[in-house]
Amino acid sequence: MKIMVSACLAGVNCKYNGGNNLNEKVLRLMEDNEVITVCPEQLGGLPTPRVPSEICDGVVMTRDGRVVDQEFRAGAEKCLEIARREEPDLIVLQSRSPSCGVHERYDGTFSGTLTSGAGVTAQLLMENGFHVADVKDL
Ligand code: SF4
Repeated sequence: MKIMVSACLAGVNCKYNGGNNLNEKVLRLMEDNEVITVCPEQLGGLPTPRVPSEICDGVVMTRDGRVVDQEFRAGAEKCLEIARREEPDLIVLQSRSPSCGVHERYDGTFSGTLTSGAGVTAQLLMENGFHVADVKDL
């Protein structure tokens, strides 16, 4: 099986704070499957570390008030391009991220409050018919 995963779940230090979200279940998937890692925020040209962002009324903003919507959407488009080329059977993404969140994300108030709805990349991949799972669903 071919699986595309959020790079931070595979241990890549691409999180906003320079760390990762290494996940045991994803590591096990990597043993038996072909795995492609992507970090949409890096693919969109954002640096690591970076100021955390949330989707505020449909627009992605950093905590210090900068609009980074274009970078997030460019990263999502690049992930879609990779998915179309690689045709993964499954895409596993990190929970709650404004890019990768599948079921829910932070609500744009930077208060740690969650709301239902996907991140920018997860949304685009689902709209284009890919089979997307939140890592918590594994
Ligand atoms: S954009 Fe996705 S892959 Fe990149 S650090 Fe955030 S959750 Fe992980």
